[in-house]
Amino acid sequence: MTPTLPADLRELISDLSGIVSDYPYVDPESTLAGLADDAAEALGRDATPEGRRERAGYTILLHATCWYVSARVFSKSVFASYIRALEGFRAQLDRASCACPAGAHPMQLDSEYQVEAGVSMLSEAGRAAFAEDYGLDEEESAVFDCEGFLADLADEALGRLREAHRELFGGIDVSHLDARFVADDGRLDIVAMQAAIRRTWENNTGPVALWSARRWLTGQGREEERIGLFLCLWMGIAQTYEGLPPSYARDLAAALATIDLDVSCEHPQHPWSTADSTVESRYRAVLHLYAPQDHPDTPVPAELSARELWECPVQYAQLTRAALENLEGWRTMRGGEDEDWEG
Ligand SMILES: [Zn+2]
Ligand SMILES: [Zn+2]
Repeated sequence: MTPTLPADLRELISDLSGIVSDYPYVDPESTLAGLADDAAEALGRDATPEGRRERAGYTILLHATCWYVSARVFSKSVFASYIRALEGFRAQLDRASCACPAGAHPMQLDSEYQVEAGVSMLSEAGRAAFAEDYGLDEEESAVFDCEGFLADLADEALGRLREAHRELFGGIDVSHLDARFVADDGRLDIVAMQAAIRRTWENNTGPVALWSARRWLTGQGREEERIGLFLCLWMGIAQTYEGLPPSYARDLAAALATIDLDVSCEHPQHPWSTADSTVESRYRAVLHLYAPQDHPDTPVPAELSARELWECPVQYAQLTRAALENLEGWRTMRGGEDEDWEG
């Protein structure tokens, strides 16, 4: 009789396959947190045959899913669970015990295959089914338990997770932008900032937004630069559709928190409302505001171009409300704990 996997393991394969192929249909954060917890429990069973089967299975599964945690999950506690479990397995693995022939360790395995392999390795029945499905002989099956192979997977996953953790939750250094955005006389080069935002292929929006937020928070700068700096910050937020992690969002939120939302005015309309319909018209509006001779073309009609209208506190409040909605959206989309986002 053909061996088959128990239903719960078949379900685990299908849930994790959806996640690693980036089309999750279960909540990824809680599913992956659960996986890491199960792995941590198996750590204590390492002296048993069951525990060693699980060690292979979970190491492969944590490796297969670590890219998703690194790129899509903004939760410190999931990172911590993954790193704890992988470090635990790694400590049990002796790379020197590998007796495989050269080249026997499978390299660059497809994530969905790894999910199937990892889940199958958790149980005796799964292993038999997997070997049969893929026509693996005894030696080929044994590789999945090789401590050298598993140690490599654990090291690779740990390296990736630690690097992503720094990028998501650590301090991002954007000080190199000072030289590009601040002229020798101390003036801000708003045109250069806009040009950087425009070069979307360089992924500049996040760094420009963060740099602008920090600059804003220092309170330095000339009065006439304030609206330009704020618009660069705003565009950096509004035009980062995939969202930015807490390492960015914390300072962005702090800058937005300096804006008074409880304000009113008599103006029927403000300039940005005529410019913010497309990325291109926003760009032209800001360029015209700061370098009208070089950039005569603007979507903002002359009657709305008065400096007083640009600098009206109500416009700041409107922009801030929209940006706060974006930040809230990132948080909902990415998940994670509140304190990571709030700093
Ligand atoms: Zn080996
Ligand atoms: Zn106004």
